[in-house]
Amino acid sequence: MNRIQTSILGYPRIGEQRELKKATEAHWAGKLSAEALQQTGRELRRAHWEKARAAGITVLPSNDFSFYDQVLDMSCLLGNVPARFGWTGGPVDLTLMFRMARSTQGSAPACEMTKWFDTNYHYIVPEFSADTAFKLSSDKPFTEFEEAKSLGITTRPVLIGPVTYLTLGKEAGGPVDREKLLARLLPVYAEILKRLKSAGAEWVQMDEPVFAFNLNEAQRRMLHETYAAFAKEVPGLKLMVTTYFGELRDNGESFLSLPVAGLHLDGVRGAAELPKLLAAFPKEKVLSLGVVNGRNVWKNDYDASLKKLQAAQQAVGNERLIVSTSCSLIHSPITLKNEPALDQELKSWLAFADEKLKELRELAGILAGTASAQALAENQAANASRRKSPRIHNPQVKARLAQIGPKELKRGSPFTKRRAAQRAKLNLPLFPTTTIGSFPQTPEVRQARAKFRKGELEAADYDKFVEEEIRKAVQFQESVGLDVFVHGEFERNDMVEYFGELLDGFTFTKNGWVQSYGSRYVKPPIIFGDVRRPKPMTVRWSSFTQKLTDKPVKGMLTGPVTIAQWSFVRDDQPRKETIFQIGLAIRDEVTDLEKAGIGVIQIDEPAVREGLPLRREDWAGYLTWAAEAFRLASSSVKDETQIHTHMCYAEFNDILSGIADLDADVISIETSRSRMELLGAFKKFKYPNEIGPGVYDIHSPRVPDASEMEALLAEAQKGLPVEHLWVNPDCGLKTRGWQEVTEALKHMVEAAQSAREKAQAGQTSGV
Ligand code: GLN
Ligand code: ZN
Repeated sequence: MNRIQTSILGYPRIGEQRELKKATEAHWAGKLSAEALQQTGRELRRAHWEKARAAGITVLPSNDFSFYDQVLDMSCLLGNVPARFGWTGGPVDLTLMFRMARSTQGSAPACEMTKWFDTNYHYIVPEFSADTAFKLSSDKPFTEFEEAKSLGITTRPVLIGPVTYLTLGKEAGGPVDREKLLARLLPVYAEILKRLKSAGAEWVQMDEPVFAFNLNEAQRRMLHETYAAFAKEVPGLKLMVTTYFGELRDNGESFLSLPVAGLHLDGVRGAAELPKLLAAFPKEKVLSLGVVNGRNVWKNDYDASLKKLQAAQQAVGNERLIVSTSCSLIHSPITLKNEPALDQELKSWLAFADEKLKELRELAGILAGTASAQALAENQAANASRRKSPRIHNPQVKARLAQIGPKELKRGSPFTKRRAAQRAKLNLPLFPTTTIGSFPQTPEVRQARAKFRKGELEAADYDKFVEEEIRKAVQFQESVGLDVFVHGEFERNDMVEYFGELLDGFTFTKNGWVQSYGSRYVKPPIIFGDVRRPKPMTVRWSSFTQKLTDKPVKGMLTGPVTIAQWSFVRDDQPRKETIFQIGLAIRDEVTDLEKAGIGVIQIDEPAVREGLPLRREDWAGYLTWAAEAFRLASSSVKDETQIHTHMCYAEFNDILSGIADLDADVISIETSRSRMELLGAFKKFKYPNEIGPGVYDIHSPRVPDASEMEALLAEAQKGLPVEHLWVNPDCGLKTRGWQEVTEALKHMVEAAQSAREKAQAGQTSGV
């Protein structure tokens, strides 16, 4: 019997019942000791190893666990602690690690956090300066290796590779030569590897997902120098270098020629280039092929995976093949076991992390000829049922989408003409004021929703409650003197979930949590079928609001790209198609809102930037269809109806032509924290439509005064036409309290008034 190895690159750390979150937050609140938190960590790790072992996985990771984030752990391990934390050497303990991760009262500002490649997972950004030095400063990987060893498991510890670590960090104060840093970094890595080796590790997994990026010659050289140095410094220790999240393309040769014992390929996102890579795969290396997708929730298609694996088997033979996940499983929910509310049929199409473990074992078994025929037959049957299911396919939706032509992707008139119609209709002052949509979600609002969901509050009573909140919000907006009103979003807890629950083709889990950052987990909706809007979703709230006031009320929707980006999307059709289907559903809502007398409609697209492909050469294609999807959603309306969009947490420089392509009449963006720096891109681009740069940072409880906001507005006027400027906060106000919001918005209106007076008196020059 010729057994084939199986591995996972990492396992979710949060616990089936979110044990990690509960323990961590209790620790932060001073209710759980550091030792008790460590104990929770040990129990979780033990449970994960035992689970994977019981599932038949032969190569298990260690050091994939983290109390907060694996990149932050790496910074702690390497002793890369920014100077402001006052660290004087010695082991970096939990307290310091958490201080780096999150600001607490009186501590130095926390490190920045940003998205891990194109996932929704956020890592803590390493900081580098010219005099950054590295020093082994934690025992974490060694302790965890020993822990597993005491269970009889020799793990393959995971480290983030040096070049990925350096690439993901940012320069805090002046440019830093990464090659110089690498030279300082390598001895510490070598020390770590030596210690792992002497502890008994045979293999170490080095994650270098930078291979999915565009790399320059210097970066490729750094990669080669790194692994050549390890081969020399730590002979006999085998390294498995992994790449994931994309194709290798022009990095293929560089990757295949790394002087290491094993290479891991992403056989899901990199499927198309597999034949080429397998043909060139070096004879002496071990091949880990990730055919089970670590980033989705779908049952594997064994026929498709076996094709890839058989090709790999031919290339390297059973001995040198490992059947693996495409990437770590931290991006997938943990288990279907705790989803009693999902129906059997739907469940039979899904695989979360634990079900993926079983898939790996079965695939390896089928490949080696040791598994029963039943596993394959069952998988084929489940996938066939999904392919044919009428729950997935809605011929009307497909037919409608097929009919979409250029006419549906464009407003009736160009912006200048629309603008004239909108001005005549809306009659807004210079520097019109508005908000981004949500007002404070008070405990009362949350309680009412929770009661309604549990069936403790009748639908009619809940609706009355929401109407009452809206009534108060309208009075509030009247009293503050805003120009364009919103209804306040009291009926929704989440801008994606709310729409998902009202659309066909979506389902929701009870416990399908995925780590977003630190102790923040999300439960993304699952889009399993063709998306259709069975009936209006927001019209009743918007038109109720409009009846209460003469001021224009802005309808509030979430855009197609954002809905897809924050959900698990189906894998049986291109992402673009799913997004266009959502675009159609939003289009119907936009049309109905207009019919109901709503003259201003905002479609939020905060996730456009994060959906950007990893490779620059793919950006233009993505931005083109993302903008088309937005225009599909927004272009059914008359000239006089004003379409807004909103984006936050984004670096706009790279994508401005894409944003302009949305052709929204007005865009509001987050700019106050960067003191209008982010606006520079719009100025340089000569952004043609109207724009509302946020003048008030909603992430902080601090209330800025009017003069501060006016100064930001003055900044915005340098380089943008005055008559294109709106005045609004950075983002929605749902996380804030009413008192701060009241004061801040009063100041905002004051700032707008003052700017208006000055502009009318000709004191500011505009362009
Ligand atoms: N309309 C949403 C709100 O105000 C926008 C949220 C967002 O951009 N993240 O809450
Ligand atoms: Zn926002």
